[in-house]
Amino acid sequence: MKRIYLDHNATTPIHPQVLKAMLPMLKENFGNPSSIHWFGQQAHHALENAREQVASLLNAQPAEIFFTSGGTEADNLAIKGGIAAAPGKTRSGHIITSQIEHNAVLKTCRYLEKQGHAVTYLPVDKYGVIKLDELGKAINDNTVLISIMFANNETGSIQPVENICELVAAVNKQRAAKNIKPLVFHTDAVQAVGKLPIDLQKLEIDLLSLSAHKINGSKGVGALYIRKGALIKPQILGGHHEKNMRAGTENMPGIVALGEACEIAKKTLQKEIKHLTKLRDILWSGISKNIEYVQLNGHSEKRLPNTLNVSFEFIEGESLLLNLDLKGIAASTGSACTSGSTEPSHVLSAMGVEPVKAQGSLRFSLGLNNTEEEIKYVIKTLPEIVNNCSSEPLGTLLNNIYEFLPDPSTAGF
Ligand code: PLP
Repeated sequence: MKRIYLDHNATTPIHPQVLKAMLPMLKENFGNPSSIHWFGQQAHHALENAREQVASLLNAQPAEIFFTSGGTEADNLAIKGGIAAAPGKTRSGHIITSQIEHNAVLKTCRYLEKQGHAVTYLPVDKYGVIKLDELGKAINDNTVLISIMFANNETGSIQPVENICELVAAVNKQRAAKNIKPLVFHTDAVQAVGKLPIDLQKLEIDLLSLSAHKINGSKGVGALYIRKGALIKPQILGGHHEKNMRAGTENMPGIVALGEACEIAKKTLQKEIKHLTKLRDILWSGISKNIEYVQLNGHSEKRLPNTLNVSFEFIEGESLLLNLDLKGIAASTGSACTSGSTEPSHVLSAMGVEPVKAQGSLRFSLGLNNTEEEIKYVIKTLPEIVNNCSSEPLGTLLNNIYEFLPDPSTAGF
């Protein structure tokens, strides 16, 4: 059976060119970049080349790129490290984030809350986008760090990052006059890097997280961009790696893969945005024409070119997923990290999607190798699956049960 992979927000296949670039690091170029002999020098050269490739995609300086073990570690480093570096606020600082962040951000914030810090979890509108005026109102003189994701992994909705940067710049201007330390703005751009143009000379982001396996690199590697001068303290201690910012011998095959993936993304970005947007829109138009009771979750335009999140009424997402898999189609019900959980997605709940619809949600996330033919197969196959899985009485029952449960968008936040 032909298999169609539409779960690229969970992970992507390694690009053949990336594999070619990383293989020598597993074979002859195995040196430790900290060693001073020839083997070490070869590895060091590859490390710095990858740093340049990542920086170039973001229009940043190579010295502002710090390699990590992935997006999760980059988020932890940004938030814990940002708080730890804040003078006088290391025990009682204020963080602002949103209710729709990835768990790498949410759980880090909850951890810091338990340590005595204050955290504001901003709500979002029905498109999954934060409101700038609410962000503005949440900022106080004790606020150390704002962490708002660039684009959401479940819905693809893009946050107003440019406006957030402007707001932070305005606050920091007032703070400079009052001699208060500047606010630090972190964005989890794990789903945005390589899918959207990001120019860090134009956007005044202080800290930005990215991950290789979302952009046809390998798993277990990522990076944190740290704007020159941004206050941050290392969280993993040991050797002098990454200019003392992140100890541990570098994952050289992964780092070389990340560099190569960034170089490919830089060259193909505009072409891929067109290709993916076209396929995504064909998919949505086919689904909405052929299936009743379906809704789009997320912003209709300000959305990742590869992401389509839809909800079917009276259907369990898990059974849809299993039936799609039997037909060779791999999609997702939410984020890969929360699959297995029977709770409705915290992202959809925060957007006000009714639980019975949130339970029947499906995320299709497209990638470089998907074709129109594959999308047409999904459009042809899905209606029958939806029909077979549809169970109106179960849906009504679930709706009745949810009425008596606490609102999942606020519970626990
Ligand atoms: N942030 C977002 C928005 C993600 O989608 C993911 C992965 O799904 C992560 C962070 C974690 O990245 P990693 O898998 O590299 O740890």
